[in-house]
Amino acid sequence: MTSTDTSRNHLRIATEEAWAPPEIIALYRRHLSDKTIADIGFSSLMGYFLSSPHPQPQAVVARLQDAAERRLSDMDATGIDHQVLALTSPGTQVLDAAEGTSIARLANDRLAEITRSHPSRFSGLAAVSYEDVDAAVVELRRAVSELGLKGLILNDHIRGAYIDAPRFAPLLAALEELDVPLYLHPNTPPDSMIGPYFEAGLDGAVHGFGASAGLHLLRIITSGVLDRHPRLRVVVGHLGEGLPFWLHRIDHMHAKQVASGRYDAIKPLAQPPSAYFSSQIWLTTSGMPWGPAIMFTREVIGADRVMYAMDYPYQFDGAEVDAQEALPISDDEKADFFERTARKVFALDF
Ligand code: MN
Repeated sequence: MTSTDTSRNHLRIATEEAWAPPEIIALYRRHLSDKTIADIGFSSLMGYFLSSPHPQPQAVVARLQDAAERRLSDMDATGIDHQVLALTSPGTQVLDAAEGTSIARLANDRLAEITRSHPSRFSGLAAVSYEDVDAAVVELRRAVSELGLKGLILNDHIRGAYIDAPRFAPLLAALEELDVPLYLHPNTPPDSMIGPYFEAGLDGAVHGFGASAGLHLLRIITSGVLDRHPRLRVVVGHLGEGLPFWLHRIDHMHAKQVASGRYDAIKPLAQPPSAYFSSQIWLTTSGMPWGPAIMFTREVIGADRVMYAMDYPYQFDGAEVDAQEALPISDDEKADFFERTARKVFALDF
């Protein structure tokens, strides 16, 4: 235990923590200045972070690129024992296959070095380029089997496509075979969806992220991906991107849509949509340090399926850790919430 707080009998593992090698930040800067990535959300959000004169976004960008002294000291200051690191959104997913594949390999090699240097403090998720699925399968196998990474990061839509498209099936099968989870993380909505969000200034984490990632998660369920890949584990942040609150209505209306025969895309599933949240989906509290929402989510999907995340460095506030340490649950349940569920889902071995 590295925190000065000795009253805890559990470690705190933060499960959705962002990181970026300086090379991807430099690549984003070049694309922004050359206007070579046609994605409204990327220009809006990464444009803000990389060109803002304000100290807060500049500090976020500096912290993203550190996986040593500064990050460790921030973790100590907020009582975080261990971070599960992943390439920050949008990761490779605004890049073409050649650039994305090259950045993914670099990021995975670098993450392996970081986790080897501080095995008790850091684990990492693999990145791939989803634009070349054959290469992605090869890189995922290397990252998990040779580098010891613990899952795969998916930063929402893939230049407007979704992971339920048939071409991604070999990658999902590789996740099952390697027995590591897919982490569905938000990004700004794709150009096909972003218009009204952008117009109202709502395309970022305020709501656009959750609307887009929630849609992606619902598509994963209703398209039958989880039936076709019964050993696939999916981890989702922000308490499930709004979906837990909707589960009753989704089950009810999904059954009606199936019965209506109106859509080829809506087919019967092996179980009601809500049931996947208690079988193949786990949720984290990234960016949602709010007791009522956490308790509700635990109640509807299962107390042992909701685990802690901070969302560092975008979200970095010790008071949020304290708020979750003060949840009205037993010490044993708190150990599941902060430590044991993450150990199990990501097969952490430190
Ligand atoms: Mn995040």
